[in-house]
Amino acid sequence: MATVPPNFPELKQEQLKPYLHDTIAVPDELQGNVLITTLDKVYNWSRKSSMWPLLFGLACCAIEMIATAASRYDLARFGMEVMRPSPRQSDLMIVSGTVTKKMVPAIVRIYNQMAEPRYVLAMGACATGGGPFKEGYNVVSGIDKYIPVDVYVPGCPPTPEALIYGLLKVHQKVERQSILTVPWYRKDQSEFVPVPRLGPDIFDPRQVELIKETTMKKPVAASAAAVSGGDATAHAAGPKAVSSKAKAMMEEAKRRAAAKQSA
Ligand code: SF4
Repeated sequence: MATVPPNFPELKQEQLKPYLHDTIAVPDELQGNVLITTLDKVYNWSRKSSMWPLLFGLACCAIEMIATAASRYDLARFGMEVMRPSPRQSDLMIVSGTVTKKMVPAIVRIYNQMAEPRYVLAMGACATGGGPFKEGYNVVSGIDKYIPVDVYVPGCPPTPEALIYGLLKVHQKVERQSILTVPWYRKDQSEFVPVPRLGPDIFDPRQVELIKETTMKKPVAASAAAVSGGDATAHAAGPKAVSSKAKAMMEEAKRRAAAKQSA
């Protein structure tokens, strides 16, 4: 059976200190029964003490995340021992592992399904910036290109201690927020993140204007320069127009596919 340390009252007072009101003091005779604090402190304390993580392991980092939740490291002491399988009941998405292009639309969709307030922790080199697969054809260089990340935990893989440190940083962020300014109580402040479209190369719909500008305007400008006797290499600047022969081949392929389907 656990014994109470002799300095228990002092320890308790020390732990309570951050939650007490800065200026209003409680008379000595009421110290045992009355505690004065602010709404922000109670609100944030309750949120950070019961933060429910979303189960989201993508690769090897997930093993460390699982170890963090197991008995040796024990996430239960932070009130977050159960990884929720449903985004609607989760506060914290721990993206742990390699983020492939195929996975990004699913991650963003799940992020959008999480109720506010929601936080994202990018665990490991892969989720943070692509990691060892950064230049790979199927890996994105960091999940923060698609959803807002609150805390990054470096490492390949990060140890459970590193993940716990990252979780404490999320708690600190929660403690700094104020009920007066948090976006989820303000009209039109809660952001829905557009789900990226998986194509030959995944793109972020928020950047569509920029992509159009850099991929479509260049060839137009280049062909205009070539027609007016400008730079002979201008055509190399962008994609060429599809030839009529190629168009006919595509039409023929479409026709064959349609015939096969209806057969
Ligand atoms: S950061 Fe390292 S350990 Fe983590 S998923 Fe990537 S390769 Fe695996």
